[in-house]
Parts: sequence; C-alpha cells; structure tokens
Amino acid sequence: MIRIGIPRALFYYQYYPMWKTFFEELGAEVVVSPPTTQTMLASGSSRVVADTCLPVKVFLGHVLSLVEKCDCIFIPAIRSVKNKVYNCSKFLGLPDMTRAVVPESPPILDIDIDINRGKRVLYQAIYQLGRRFTWNPFKVRQASLTAWQACLNYRELMSSHGLTPPEAIEATAGLKTQSSHPASTQATIALIGHPYLLYDEHISHRLIHRLEQAHNRVLTPEMLITQELESAIVKLVGRAYWTYEEEVVGAGGHYLQSGADGVIGIMAFGCGPDSLMMDMVRRQAAKLRAIPFMSLTLEEHTAEAGVVTRLEAFLDMIQRKKKRQVEVCV
Ligand code: SF4
Repeated sequence: MIRIGIPRALFYYQYYPMWKTFFEELGAEVVVSPPTTQTMLASGSSRVVADTCLPVKVFLGHVLSLVEKCDCIFIPAIRSVKNKVYNCSKFLGLPDMTRAVVPESPPILDIDIDINRGKRVLYQAIYQLGRRFTWNPFKVRQASLTAWQACLNYRELMSSHGLTPPEAIEATAGLKTQSSHPASTQATIALIGHPYLLYDEHISHRLIHRLEQAHNRVLTPEMLITQELESAIVKLVGRAYWTYEEEVVGAGGHYLQSGADGVIGIMAFGCGPDSLMMDMVRRQAAKLRAIPFMSLTLEEHTAEAGVVTRLEAFLDMIQRKKKRQVEVCV
C-alpha cells in the first residue's frame, strides 16, 4: 500500500480530514508528521533565507521529518478557493519551492487548485491526482465526493460544536466528542489569525491551553460560519482579496462586536498580508473603543516568557475593565 505523507502545517488544519478521506478511499495509507518541535523548526529554517515567514519554515521542517517515512508527500498549490480571492504567493509555489530546497524529499504529489479557472479545470486536476492510484474515473469521482462530505462534516463540527481544528480532527477520528471549554469562565477571549499559527502549540507557545487553564473561554475563527465572516468583511473592508481575510479581518470584525471580552490577533513575523489585515482590525478596535485588542507577532526566536507576560497583562486589563463596569452598575 502506497504511503502518502502529509505535513502537519499550513493547510493541514483546514483540509486534513478531506485529504485523508480522499487518499484512503483510493486505497492509500496516510502518514502525518508529528507535532512541531524546535528541532523541526530549526531544520526547516536552515533551508531558506532568514526573512522567510515562520509558517513556511515550520512547513519545511515537517517535510524533512517525513523523509524516509512515506513513499510520496502531498503538497497542493492552492491558488484560489473563491472567485477572485487569492492565496498568499507562498502557497502558490509551495510544491516547487519544496522540491528546490528539500532535494532529498520523496516525490511530491501536487495538484493546482484554482477555482477561477472554472469547475472543469478543477475536476480535471482532481482526476489527474486520482489517476496516480486508479484508472477508474468513477472511483476517483466517488472518492472526491466522499472527501468533500468529510470536509463539510469537519467544518460543521467546528462551527456548530465550538471545536478547534485539532479537537475536530480528534472527533472525526472518534477520539473526542466535545470541546474542552472550562465550565466557569473569567472572560471570553477571541483569537484571530491563521490556523497554522493558532493551533501549532510549539510556535503559539500553547496560547489556547494557557487561556483555558486560566479559566477563559476561547473563541476562534473556525467557530464562525462563512456568512458571519463574510458579512464582517463587507462591513469592514467591502470585499475580500486574500483568502485569509476571513480568519483575520472577518473574525476580528465579528468578535469586536459580538460579546467577546477581548480579541488577540496572532501574526507571523515576515508576513506581508498579516501586517495589512491585522492593522485593519486594530483600527476598527480603536474606532469602536469597546473591546481590548492586542496583537502578538510570532517568530522563531519569540521567547515564551514574553508571550506569557503580555498575555497576563492583557487578561489583567480585561478583569480590571469588567470590575469597573460592575462598580459603575452598582
Ligand atoms: S499568509 Fe503570511 S504567514 Fe501565511 S504563508 Fe503567506 S506570508 Fe507566510
């Protein structure tokens, strides 16, 4: 049985259940790289220039960790999944960049996803990918329909049951059925940012875990439905140009006006789109003056102590604000 490696980075948090289903339906075995470690990050960093963004360095570290553990590695080039809304350029050239900087990588299984080129081109691309496993087009079609349903179920688990992507992935594997939100909460904190930053415990310094341990309820972009994200984007910037505007501008705009006690924006050092998008949310927070907003920039040298100190200060400020509100009401 052919073993397909999937790096636990970048698109993994959005599409893993769909890819896994697709490949398993076609008779392959899926191997996922382990959670990020400092060694993996250092190995990925060593392959690219210093100012490459942190998530790409992490991704390359995951590819390196899969060398000799699988027969090929699946790395799609996802250009666009919505009409005239585009991904960051790093995603467009991901398979080619990986081939260039990780020559020892097993063969790379790639596919071009660009919804702007029409459904026919997309179906042909999926069929070309499936043909590497079977010549039967009906089998490829069935695998892609089952995979798409798995993706819809995964999204539903996150938006309807308040699960984070790692929790929903565990739930789809039958390991977990409900969110680990604390029973009593000090505050509700919304985190906004790319899933590959929020849910990678090594690079986020276990931010979600820390917030929950301090009895805070954590909200994330995946807990919102597409309509909520889109309507927040329309209110804030009119229309989206970047794929990731939903999880930054959309989620930020929504949570700034819908009951969170504070919003934390997580950005990657070296990310152009992030600095623009997070600035829009920061301006909106300053304009509304209702909910505290803090942005944290993560890079490979970010010290855990620095993150913890800023987090504690932010939570203290929220508690003081809540206390003042109670005093005013009394
Ligand atoms: S959106 Fe930013 S963080 Fe993500 S891959 Fe592109 S440059 Fe890197």
